[in-house]
Amino acid sequence: MAGISFPTVPNLVTVDNYSNRLNMLIQIKVVYPYSFSNIKGEFKLLYSEAIHSFLYGCPDAALSLAVRCLEQGLKHYLNISNIKEIHYKDKNGNKKSIRLIHAKLFHLIQCDENPVKDKDILQYLKSLRNYTHEEKLVEDFHALEAIKHVTDVLNELLSFETLTITVEPCRLCGQNHSINIEPKDYFIGNRIKLKCPNRSEYFNNIGEFIVDL
Ligand SMILES: [Zn+2]
Repeated sequence: MAGISFPTVPNLVTVDNYSNRLNMLIQIKVVYPYSFSNIKGEFKLLYSEAIHSFLYGCPDAALSLAVRCLEQGLKHYLNISNIKEIHYKDKNGNKKSIRLIHAKLFHLIQCDENPVKDKDILQYLKSLRNYTHEEKLVEDFHALEAIKHVTDVLNELLSFETLTITVEPCRLCGQNHSINIEPKDYFIGNRIKLKCPNRSEYFNNIGEFIVDL
């Protein structure tokens, strides 16, 4: 019987692949960069696009976007530290300076003013960025590593304190509660069980908070 034939879609992301990637992300505990994302809407969107690109099987896009977040995060940090010009050594070891607004990732990583403690991580991220000049495709694994390291750097530069969730009113005791979440528990995909402080150890579950983008 003649019918309509649809072309096959290459690299179609199945639900299974999505959930596998989500599980990978949850396992490595990527603490959502709350402060970075709340600086401006563009940062929030760039970061969430990096994560979604990884989850939907676009590791090349995820890596580029993650590195872009790093560049913006470093630039923002230096800018609020009132640094207008940065100093670095070029590829031949000569001392150079450049105005912050014109600086690219290379300058931001190499510069004397760079505040990040773990310089090896930055060099590694810079090396991953070389993918953007090659035809070789980025593996999921590399994209995930880039996301993890970039996020750690963003949280080091722009840290955040305990976050508070309000439950009003509580379905068990009727009162309002403020429940604190430590930054270490604020990793993407974490499901945090909320407990009523007025109830005993059993039957105190008042719901779940999922750390989302
Ligand atoms: Zn309660």
